[in-house]
Amino acid sequence: MPLPSAHEIEACPTCDSKTGFYIRSRVSGLVQINYSFDGSGSDNQDMYTQLNHNDQKFAYCQQCDSKIGRWDEKAKSIVPTRVRF
Ligand SMILES: [Zn+2]
Repeated sequence: MPLPSAHEIEACPTCDSKTGFYIRSRVSGLVQINYSFDGSGSDNQDMYTQLNHNDQKFAYCQQCDSKIGRWDEKAKSIVPTRVRF
């Protein structure tokens, strides 16, 4: 069987579910939440810009939680981790 390319993952290789996957990303840092003096929120556009994102993002199956592969943010695709050469 030929190895699937990154764009050919349509189902979980473990449980065959096609429900989808989720990405886990470890973030750390401080969040700044801006308020006006009357207690209402104000501009929080930059709220998350100071968080440090862990570069390693893995895709997990929504059904069985098994790791499917590494999420390639630029390519918007999953790179399989179980590729054997
Ligand atoms: Zn699965």
